[in-house]
Amino acid sequence: MNNLLPWHEDIWQRLMARRRAGSLPHALLLTGPDGMGKNQFADLLAQSLLCEHRNDEYLPCGVCRGCQLFAAGTHPDQRRVAPLEEGKVIGVDQIRELAHYLAHTPQYGNHKVVIVTPADRMNINSANSLLKTLEEPPSYALLVLVTAHPRRLPVTVISRCQRLSFTPPPTERAGAWLAAQIAGPTTPELWLGLADGAPLRALALADSGTLKNRESLLGLVEQVARGEVEPLAGAANSLKLGAKETLYCMYSWIGDMIRLASCADLLNVVNQDMRTRLLGLAQELTLKDLHMQLDQVGRALQLIDRPLNQQLLLENVLITWQSAFKRRS
Ligand SMILES: [Zn+2]
Repeated sequence: MNNLLPWHEDIWQRLMARRRAGSLPHALLLTGPDGMGKNQFADLLAQSLLCEHRNDEYLPCGVCRGCQLFAAGTHPDQRRVAPLEEGKVIGVDQIRELAHYLAHTPQYGNHKVVIVTPADRMNINSANSLLKTLEEPPSYALLVLVTAHPRRLPVTVISRCQRLSFTPPPTERAGAWLAAQIAGPTTPELWLGLADGAPLRALALADSGTLKNRESLLGLVEQVARGEVEPLAGAANSLKLGAKETLYCMYSWIGDMIRLASCADLLNVVNQDMRTRLLGLAQELTLKDLHMQLDQVGRALQLIDRPLNQQLLLENVLITWQSAFKRRS
């Protein structure tokens, strides 16, 4: 994706004003929830620094040698550091190699760009090693750290970076963009609600067949609540529909249940199409129960990207879910 996403425009322009003034920082920390397009922003920035014919807004041309090498992932002045395997950490060797890489001047232009993503996957040794580079970066270096979980990074690393925060755009703006991306009849507000307002996450949900799965998933969650399906079997089934999707849906449903429990006539809920069923579930629990359920699904969502057993995580969520209903019956 070479184009600037609409909700990135302000951040881009502010950063480019600094570039124009010759005061682009040497280290940036891109933070904000998943689905905001932080990596796309980092890529666009890297490409823009490597492009040989960028325009007045510093957007890359897409056709020059720099852009082509960048698109092929073979530009010698750009590196991406990520875990070597899904769910693993960024090892200290990877960061040490980076210091060596940055010690040599750029081959083509005036910049060398390194993207570390997700930066929170660095262990303490890796972070300490990166710190040495952050303390004395070469004049041509730009390090871009990308993370949805800045609190997992040492303060010493954070304090040496300029932070760019990506927050969900207003629903109208994101909705207009989303509607243009999805084919067929659409309900952008529903997807944005499910994705906590993060547009790319909303698009991924809309594309993933979640609407179809959502229906079966709610059926499953209802059956677990009524004790017709055991949590372990429920977890195995929902895992097939996607662990993250399951948790996102549950989080959004419980959020609506809390709203409906506080005011059953409320017009504005995220899952408008499931309103009656959610109200039915909500009426069986206390508000305190519901808040506890929301907390635990929220905690599970924070853990879902870590290397752990997803089946076990879903089992825990559904066991607690079922026991809340059992207590009330
Ligand atoms: Zn170019």
